[in-house]
Amino acid sequence: MAAYEFETHTYDAIVVGAGGSGLRATLGLAEQGLRTACVTKVFPTRSHTVAAQGGIAASLGNMGPDHWQWHMYDTVKGSDWLGDTDAMEYLAREAPKAVYELEHYGVPFSRTEKGEIYQRPFGGHTTEFGEGPPVQRTCAAADRTGHAILHTLYGQSVKQKAEFYIEYFAIDLIMSEEGQCQGVVAWKLDDGTLHVFNAKMVVLATGGYGRAYFSATSAHTCTGDGGGMVARQGLPLQDMEFVQFHPTGIYGSGCLITEGARGEGGYLTNSEGERFMERYAPTYKDLASRDVVSRCMTMEIREGRGVGANGDHIHLNLNHLPPETLAERLPGISESARIFAGVDLTKEPIPVLPTVHYNMGGIPTNYWGEVLDPTSDNPDRTVPGLMAVGEAGCASVHGANRLGSNSLIDLVVFGRAAAIRAGKVVDPAASNPQLNAASVEKAIDRFDGLRHAKGGTPTAELRLEMQRTMQQDAAVFRTDKTLAEGLEKMGRISAKLGDLHVTDRSMVWNSDLMETLELTNLMPNALATVAGAEARKESRGAHAHEDYPDRNDDEWRKHSLAYVDGAEVRLDYRPVHLDPLSGEAEGGIDMKKIAPKKRVY
Ligand SMILES: Cc1cc2nc3c(=O)[nH]c(=O)nc-3n(C[C@H](O)[C@H](O)[C@H](O)COP(=O)(O)OP(=O)(O)OC[C@H]3O[C@@H](n4cnc5c(N)ncnc54)[C@H](O)[C@@H]3O)c2cc1C
Repeated sequence: MAAYEFETHTYDAIVVGAGGSGLRATLGLAEQGLRTACVTKVFPTRSHTVAAQGGIAASLGNMGPDHWQWHMYDTVKGSDWLGDTDAMEYLAREAPKAVYELEHYGVPFSRTEKGEIYQRPFGGHTTEFGEGPPVQRTCAAADRTGHAILHTLYGQSVKQKAEFYIEYFAIDLIMSEEGQCQGVVAWKLDDGTLHVFNAKMVVLATGGYGRAYFSATSAHTCTGDGGGMVARQGLPLQDMEFVQFHPTGIYGSGCLITEGARGEGGYLTNSEGERFMERYAPTYKDLASRDVVSRCMTMEIREGRGVGANGDHIHLNLNHLPPETLAERLPGISESARIFAGVDLTKEPIPVLPTVHYNMGGIPTNYWGEVLDPTSDNPDRTVPGLMAVGEAGCASVHGANRLGSNSLIDLVVFGRAAAIRAGKVVDPAASNPQLNAASVEKAIDRFDGLRHAKGGTPTAELRLEMQRTMQQDAAVFRTDKTLAEGLEKMGRISAKLGDLHVTDRSMVWNSDLMETLELTNLMPNALATVAGAEARKESRGAHAHEDYPDRNDDEWRKHSLAYVDGAEVRLDYRPVHLDPLSGEAEGGIDMKKIAPKKRVY
């Protein structure tokens, strides 16, 4: 074993990640009196959740009639019938409770005249099981909702005496021989020391892997570290082929313009000044779901109706809205448009383009956040001691396509659910597991190997190769040809991880080494994405396959599972949960209402 000293910390529970999901789990665990630590590579309030603008979905009904069953229906339809029914029901039912809790914790929501939480319309959110008009369901704190939530949850977690290990990079999971998770090994970035966290429950809340692509709205820290750690233990990643492109990334920078902009009345136009969404989605127009709008924009550009000198983007118009509305409801994006596009949005349209935004896939879990290790006999078998929440996890409520404002609610509903479940299964009086020394050693050896890597390929070069390949071959529209090429290229690119070159060998603030560790996490996520996409011979949600333009429920209404081992991927499948938590007789959903049908907006 490489010679490194490490300090050991013992807790009932540790949470890796301090975004919305990690903080909500941390708070819930600490509130129940469990000794809880939160380990995070960035300062908690700098997690990507801070950038969430538009809001958080819950059927509060403050702006008109709404019902959790309508929210569930929209989520089922949004998922293109790939989400797990029990998890989607849990999300929609618990959402109002979770939002009121946030309000009571102190989140400064925008208000209606009556003093209630302000809610705006968002894509794919409707009334009357999709038969009625759009609903105002998205609770907002201006266009800085994630910022408000994150700061509140951090303050509350500190108040509950959760302990924070800030700027600690979790390297790998510690697993017993029998497959129980026992903790993590982490590297303290500012002084170079190594730390072993021994816990009865580990909650991964490490966020998405948007940075596997060249152009993404997500922070540079969104590198799928949780997925990488899980894949290295031989555990699967689920539904990775479903990657959401947000319709309105600013052309060039990729910086996000929230869907709330269209919720407040903004609309898209092509080079002929036409509001083209009226043609594709006559009912919901610019507020159709994201995969639909992104595809329509791409089609307009392909057919020669893009705007700009190269005809390669689309205009988002807000200049018809009163300047007061823009200042009050969308102050953040007014600033982003000015800085990143040089546009005064009270006067001119913003140039936009579909941009990678969200990963529907991730670490498979049940609706309590417990990580799944399916077998053919038991597709719902759980891994003892391990949970995953937030964008890192896949519960699965978003299925093949996530509705806007359904991620923030996923973070708090499932962060909270994981804490409730851990409160039941973790015994604070029990002793901690005896750590598997071989597993600790393996993690440290991998770290040391990368630290001294002296191959021929610099990390930044290989990362760029991966990002360009993903952007080109696993894009908005996919074909057998692009996917086969993408899979072949990604196999070759992954194999080059063995030839990395790290220049800086120090232990303190070594960003070269940190980015290398991140690349070793991005790569299995990227590989699983393109492998899952290559295999899926249908179109569903965000997976738009030109050779198989229709959804095929008979063969493909199933979750993909990708087992990544180095540059190899083995695929397997898991049935979708079709049963709800409660039937109609117990006040649950009428299953006829959510039966599969063609998805039109
Ligand atoms: C620009 C933007 C706007 C968005 N707007 C909305 C919106 O309005 N509504 C909505 O519902 N959704 C929105 N989304 C999506 C939503 O914000 C994200 O899906 C969500 O915030 C992810 O939260 P998370 O808790 O899973 O992780 P993140 O907030 O990404 O946090 C990840 C955490 O994990 C930690 N971490 C990661 N790896 C390691 C490691 N190796 N060691 C230690 N710590 C680690 C990080 O330090 C960080 O604390 C938006 C996304 C973006 C990018």
